[in-house]
Amino acid sequence: MLSDSGRKRIGVLGGTFDPIHYGHLVAAEEARELLGLMKVIFVPSGHPPHKAADDMTDGEHRWAMTVLATQDNPRFEVSRIELDRPDVSYTVDTLRLLQERMPETELYFITGADMFLELPTWKEPETILRSFHFVAVARPGWSLERLDDRLRLLIERYRCHVHILNVPGIAVSSTEIRDRLRAGRSVQYLVPTPVVEYILQKGLYGIRVGRSG
Ligand code: ATP
Ligand code: MG
Repeated sequence: MLSDSGRKRIGVLGGTFDPIHYGHLVAAEEARELLGLMKVIFVPSGHPPHKAADDMTDGEHRWAMTVLATQDNPRFEVSRIELDRPDVSYTVDTLRLLQERMPETELYFITGADMFLELPTWKEPETILRSFHFVAVARPGWSLERLDDRLRLLIERYRCHVHILNVPGIAVSSTEIRDRLRAGRSVQYLVPTPVVEYILQKGLYGIRVGRSG
């Protein structure tokens, strides 16, 4: 769990987690094990630049669901670092802040292939690759073969900091979960049970009570 430099490795998985599902959890656990990470910190987004606030469930609900989903894994943690900031959170700023709080660690930022392919459009992609490790996990439907030229150049330049991992593919997205709930369909085995219970109890995602669960 120590890097060559003797520093602890810590994973960071950012997301809207609206809601969190087993695709997120498998990606985090596989990255943790394969890269020897001491823990993985889940960071629910505050106001992500690419999603409109009114399209998103309230941060406190997304936070609560992320805590419920990770509570049985002692190596998973949830951070409020983005939720507690009033402005749009950019990944590079979040990583810098986490690094300031944990100077003795090496941070590994974990994303699914879809997010990874967008890296060139992020704020300061070169800083992210230069200063932090970047982990791209396979996600069904997204081929990491399809890297565009800019991304290929970035990877070539910062090769040692990009880790491409094949993890068991769970072909589920939060969008699909929300659609299923709205349609009154089951999300059992796609989302951890305590999260399903929370959704039902709070009546999130316009669920039609009766059939969901
Ligand atoms: P939405 O459909 O609302 O975009 P999502 O399922 O993509 O939701 P996010 O919160 O946007 O979930 O994703 C957080 C991170 O987890 C991203 O890096 C994303 O690529 C990754 N991720 C999400 N689902 C999976 C999955 N099934 N397998 C691997 N990685 C995933
Ligand atoms: Mg997404």
